[in-house]
Amino acid sequence: MKAQPKASHFIAGEWIEDTSGAVLDSIHPATGEVIARLHEATPDIMSRALSAAQQAQPAWAALAPVERGRILHRAAMILRARNHDLSVLETLDTGKPLQETLVADAASGADAFEYYAGFAPTVTGQTIALGGDMAYTLREALGVCVGIGAWNYPIQIACWKAAPALAFGNAVVFKPSDVTPLSALALAEILHEAGLPAGLFNVVQGRGAVGAGLITDPRVAKVSLTGSVPTGRKVYAAAAEGMRAVTMELGGKSPLIIFDDADLENAVSAAIMANFYSAGQVCSNGTRVFVHQDIKAAFLDRLAARTNRIRLGDPLDEATQMGPLVSDAQMHKVLGHIAGGIDAGARLVCGGARHGTSGCFVQPTVFADVRDDMALAREEIFGPVMSVLDFTDEADVVARANATEYGLAAGVFTRDLARAHRVAGAVQAGIVWVNAYNLTPVEMPFGGVKASGVGRENGHAALEHYTRVKSVYLGLGDVDAPY
Ligand code: NDP
Repeated sequence: MKAQPKASHFIAGEWIEDTSGAVLDSIHPATGEVIARLHEATPDIMSRALSAAQQAQPAWAALAPVERGRILHRAAMILRARNHDLSVLETLDTGKPLQETLVADAASGADAFEYYAGFAPTVTGQTIALGGDMAYTLREALGVCVGIGAWNYPIQIACWKAAPALAFGNAVVFKPSDVTPLSALALAEILHEAGLPAGLFNVVQGRGAVGAGLITDPRVAKVSLTGSVPTGRKVYAAAAEGMRAVTMELGGKSPLIIFDDADLENAVSAAIMANFYSAGQVCSNGTRVFVHQDIKAAFLDRLAARTNRIRLGDPLDEATQMGPLVSDAQMHKVLGHIAGGIDAGARLVCGGARHGTSGCFVQPTVFADVRDDMALAREEIFGPVMSVLDFTDEADVVARANATEYGLAAGVFTRDLARAHRVAGAVQAGIVWVNAYNLTPVEMPFGGVKASGVGRENGHAALEHYTRVKSVYLGLGDVDAPY
């Protein structure tokens, strides 16, 4: 299986190779096979990408928004038409099962382009009456935006950043995770084919140092990162030096609270989706599942029965429900968390080990009787490991849910309408799902509070983060001067 792109980088509408950059191999984690060999961007490659973006951006921002939208809409159509090939590519690069990538990755990216293509022409400013004089506001593009991606949803992350950035008149230089470098290049080619002028969406490859090199360049106006909290702290600090705008989509340890009046089967479905989709490698996962003591036994019975039926295997087989983790390193990290949970005295309900002897597979794992102070309940694991905790009292469970530095998402399952709204209001999270979990339509803003992030992607909210406001004051009378 090979998925070798035409070159490592895509700059100013062209494939660019520079083999003097360090080697970067893309590995299919189900087999360990090297599917593509690329090279990291050298400082010269990074500079070429930034210059291309800087040169192309003013003319793009000067186009009528409906013209920009037309091109982005075409890109959405091509993404959909090529969904199968893009899904296979994403499955090879990430190991996520085709069953998921066919519906969740390029498809979600297409939604973002479609949404922002339509949104761009509707953007307006304000007119402000000042009692004689008046003012109006303009929404301006920021300029060159750097996007840095994580490895769990590579094309979706690239699209969620590129679609609003481009729609509102910016240019983008995107660096995918070195673990999953391929689909961003496919996106660049599609945007080019859709008619996006050269230089507006550039892809450069590299590890963290390449990302770090991009952020501090004076040509850059904004940095949007999807990644872990420790990386977020570094990127935010580096961006602050140049007063650059940021969007930070970072990690989480989100609570999913299941009350005793919840529909049990739906609650079990949500807990499974909130922990095992993409083999648990989802930032907004509800990894602390608080279950009311009165329904705990019934909940765990159904959960174990259904978890034990999850089909692991070749991610390219559409019948496979869970693939490997993204890399050997990630598998060993997750297995370390599982061993730590067993040592700390949490009760293993199912799973708990590597699946098979080859490939980066980990069994879907459920721990019960997890306490708030255990590492299982405090640290982001980013693998198929669910922690079930008990509670009896609403105020108490909300306080425990909030006792974390993270604040990305939360879920609540109850049939009590007042309680649902009360808990949604009280949890410290950027997103709350009521009787649902992990649904992320492009229409809905997405992002975290506390250490989980700054800014929002998707929805109308992204406008705030890819444009700036200019105020224009119109003096309509004589100039009043006391001198
Ligand atoms: P990392 O934080 O390790 O990396 C994220 C990206 O930042 C990678 O492209 C990485 O490069 C790059 N990077 C690393 N160091 C620097 C630096 N100093 N300056 C600039 N860029 C740098 O995250 P992972 O890739 O391991 O992804 C998993 C994490 O992402 C999880 O914590 C998860 O919760 C979070 N995430 C958050 C989401 C959200 O929307 N809130 C969505 C998805 C994931 P490289 O890795 O190539 O070296």
